Amino acid sequence: MSGLRAPDVGPASLDPGITGKPSPAVTLNHVANERAPSRVLAVFAHPDDAEFTFGGTVASWTSSGAEVVYVCVTDGSAGQNQPGWTREAVAEVRQKEMREAASILGVADVVFLGYVDGYLEVTLDLRRDLTREVRRFRPDLIVAPDPSHLWSRKRYINHPDHRAVGEAMLAVVNPDAPSRPQFPELLDEGFEPFEVPELWLPTFEPEETDLVLDIGPVIDKKVAALRAHDSQLKNMGTEDIEPEVREHAEKLAEGREFRYGEGFRVFRLKEEG
Ligand SMILES: [Zn+2]
Repeated sequence: MSGLRAPDVGPASLDPGITGKPSPAVTLNHVANERAPSRVLAVFAHPDDAEFTFGGTVASWTSSGAEVVYVCVTDGSAGQNQPGWTREAVAEVRQKEMREAASILGVADVVFLGYVDGYLEVTLDLRRDLTREVRRFRPDLIVAPDPSHLWSRKRYINHPDHRAVGEAMLAVVNPDAPSRPQFPELLDEGFEPFEVPELWLPTFEPEETDLVLDIGPVIDKKVAALRAHDSQLKNMGTEDIEPEVREHAEKLAEGREFRYGEGFRVFRLKEEG
């Protein structure tokens, strides 16, 4: 099963066995009123990662007018473990599924960096490519994987591509994107330094979670977007993803005044001026 990527977001990751005390409740409206993001860059490893981990939040943001752009680092080509598939054919299917999912969530654009799924490493090339996208789009909020997420309880080992994207993005946030001496070739391409105001890392455990957003109003959109990833749901042997999505989101919202949530570790990196 070493080549199968789909279980990285399979039932185990949707149900990481969350226990413990809820962190302070923050509804989406509360956040939106205080800090409505207008430009969000979501960076992740595989074509279905965003929908599984923070699809509801994306739907909420786009419905309140935010421009959300996806950067998918790998080509998704390892997302099939049946014999007879080439990486090229898998990548084509998955990128099509991803565009459909992004469209359902109201995402403005999808950038594929094209790194090979399953082999991702934190290299200077990767950091440069991500820095380019950050300097190009100049978001007020970035969502990226938490590189410290090694596993969830004892039921899921996190995929190394997720950790690599997370680690690279921390380097992009500091020092690559804001520092003029980093990657001077990007200056030649016209991309000036940019200081990232806010970084959000999706969380799976309450003790790591700074805030939980209420995704109740948009959970149907999250489910619909996940259904676009038909090849991955088939890999997981999932007839219907909706019960799992609802159950997982309920656990994340446990003890709060709303029913369904998505959780984040939040870094506010720039003082408001
Ligand atoms: Zn993934």
